[in-house]
Amino acid sequence: MSTCLIGIGANLGDRAATIRASFALLAEHPSVETIAVSRLHETAPVGGTAGQPNFLNAAARLATSLAPIALLELLQEIEHRCGRRRGERWSARTLDLDLLLYGDRVVSDVRLEVPHPRMTFRRFVLQPAAEVASDMVHPRMGWTVAQLLDHLDASLLYTALGGGTAEWRTRLADELAASCAARLVRAPSADRSSPTGLSAGSTLESLRAQARVLASASWPDVGQLAVSDFWFDQWPLVADSRDSPELGDAWQELRGDVVVPRLTVLPAAPHVGHDNRPAPPTNVLDLAIERYAQHPALGPVLVVPANDWQLTVEESVAACRAMR
Ligand code: ATP
Ligand code: MG
Ligand code: MG
Repeated sequence: MSTCLIGIGANLGDRAATIRASFALLAEHPSVETIAVSRLHETAPVGGTAGQPNFLNAAARLATSLAPIALLELLQEIEHRCGRRRGERWSARTLDLDLLLYGDRVVSDVRLEVPHPRMTFRRFVLQPAAEVASDMVHPRMGWTVAQLLDHLDASLLYTALGGGTAEWRTRLADELAASCAARLVRAPSADRSSPTGLSAGSTLESLRAQARVLASASWPDVGQLAVSDFWFDQWPLVADSRDSPELGDAWQELRGDVVVPRLTVLPAAPHVGHDNRPAPPTNVLDLAIERYAQHPALGPVLVVPANDWQLTVEESVAACRAMR
């Protein structure tokens, strides 16, 4: 038997009745034992078409002998029986059942990704989840559900953009400033001259300049979202990729004085090899960032598809709203 966490949402029809019906359908399956269900939480929609009705969100903790894909198929069958018809992405729905955690398993399949890739920064997921599974551990991050929710509560409303090129990050930061009324925190000017944001001679200087811009002591205490077009926690990866321990030491020394992002957005580059098959990136730093994103121990990460600008913007905007 594996312990699983299910995230539930509904914003069409009789939402509460549908969610209760889905609990019953789960419980009556011979291979599923329901351990706990959360209360129903009323939340505002954060993505998809504008003007959608509010959601009711909930979570359920199960024990099951079903394999991950079989459990996904059961969830989809229950969604269908409860009137879910898939239209546009993130459109209004009678029922959404997402497999958030399956024990400590990591699954990466075209049909199923576990842990659910957007669970770590969504308040509407974590609040009900913490009622039934506060002790369950996110196997990629090593954080419990309670720690994830605490992070949303304790961190400042700040999103860092990392990886990619300086141009990509600036463009996305501008987009978020416009769509989410965010305050822009620009990389200090020394960083802007090179495409990676790092000119060889001035790296320590760049690190210190970034730390000054992000100093928690002078961070405005307002309810406004801040977005930086650079990522301070990239420095240990830069240090490794350049075999430059002094950069790592400087990051260690200064990290306690800078604001911690509530969310970090990183690009997944489209790596296509000569035979059109995916190939790993060749740049050492890009590789390190991609590897970090698989196991983001420092905080929640949203990975966006760098080859799809519209999706990148939609995902980033929705994530910045969901983490409030
Ligand atoms: P989001 O995933 O951002 O919450 P959504 O729940 O509205 O969006 P759906 O339309 O319900 O998205 O699902 C889209 C696809 O996601 C499904 O066809 C399913 O195969 C896939 N999927 C991948 N990983 C999971 C998961 N952990 N749980 C549920 N569906 C998943
Ligand atoms: Mg969902
Ligand atoms: Mg879903």
